[in-house]
Amino acid sequence: MDSVKSAASVKPAAATPSEKPLLPGAVLGILGGGQLGRMFAIAAKQMGYRVAVLEPAPDSPCGQVADTVLQADYTDEAALRRLAALSDAITYEFENVDARAVEFLESLGKPVHPSSAALRITQDRILEKTFARENGIPVTPFASVRSEDEARAVFHGESFPAFLKTARGGYDGKGQARVHNGEEAARAWNEFKGHDLILEKLVPFEKEISVVACRGRDGSFAAYPPAENAHVRNILDVSVLPARVSPESSAAALKIARQVAEGLNIVGTFCVELFVLPGGEIWFNEIAPRPHNSGHATVDACLCSQFEQQVRALCGLPLGSTSLLRPTAMVNLVGDGNGDHLHGLETLLADPDAALHLYGKKHAPRGRKMGHFTVLGETADAAEATARALRAGLQWGA
Ligand code: AMP
Repeated sequence: MDSVKSAASVKPAAATPSEKPLLPGAVLGILGGGQLGRMFAIAAKQMGYRVAVLEPAPDSPCGQVADTVLQADYTDEAALRRLAALSDAITYEFENVDARAVEFLESLGKPVHPSSAALRITQDRILEKTFARENGIPVTPFASVRSEDEARAVFHGESFPAFLKTARGGYDGKGQARVHNGEEAARAWNEFKGHDLILEKLVPFEKEISVVACRGRDGSFAAYPPAENAHVRNILDVSVLPARVSPESSAAALKIARQVAEGLNIVGTFCVELFVLPGGEIWFNEIAPRPHNSGHATVDACLCSQFEQQVRALCGLPLGSTSLLRPTAMVNLVGDGNGDHLHGLETLLADPDAALHLYGKKHAPRGRKMGHFTVLGETADAAEATARALRAGLQWGA
């Protein structure tokens, strides 16, 4: 198999933790004004911090709750300087932010977490899978693909079906194709030509899980129990916490999360997406260096949410409890193009175990994440059953 550039050569240097914790009243800066930024800002403000957000779009979900909004492109140098001047520490809410912007903020002497070095690895599927492989974390066979011939022959026919993916920039299934033979791989190569590509052997997984975890500035580590994730059209649909996996699988997943945190020297909340194989073995899929959709249930199901953890880590405070108060199911509310208003909320809100979160987005085109709700149950199965029943009563309309 083709070898790829060693991830060890791009391993980040140790972070330089500032000694004193940032206390309430400090300003936390965030790149990106989507729902993750919004929930981060709400958690920060609950704890008495102020929030400055840099986001190109007007009336963004985070902009609606932040103290200061800098409406500019993420690469706008003057806006980045202003964000750095306003903020005592900075984070970001999505991994496709230009790593050069994060590097620039670092060069201005502001603490940015996770670091640009960790971000660069998690932005690139080849680098992150190489990181996993080099650290002994089980991962599907993969290879970088630089030509049509390589796409056709890289596995010498033995490893199809496979996924051909752009190494960078893909999300929610964009920039990837499932291919069953060399011909299909060559066709997909032509479709994605011009990008760095990775070919990965298909994992015959039984289910997908994720671990949301956080690492503090002092190296402390806290992980939530694994969540079990079901997708529809490559978008997370329902996430059940805790995942219904064996204690051994759960322990293996948590071990991988810790290896990732320490190997990449991450400070802040992050997520590792994983596959559960039929025998219970856990394989690595990818890393999100930020809070994750599959961790939203922690807002209602834990004393300290994934967003509060991010605030605590950024500020150098002790990490909070990751214990579940009750098993929980989280359902994404995704637009379907039939209208911008969600009907049926009265039934949802009448359920004493349900909590609603909407992100303040005006329009609900097909595939846009508009909000989510969580249901707390006596068991994970019960929570999921109630959540699915409640969702059946919801409908987008005019
Ligand atoms: P990704 O963006 O890499 O997380 O891919 C989106 C989804 O495609 C995953 O959540 C899986 O359901 C599926 N997928 C991606 N890569 C693989 C693979 N190598 N084997 C099986 N399924 C995959």
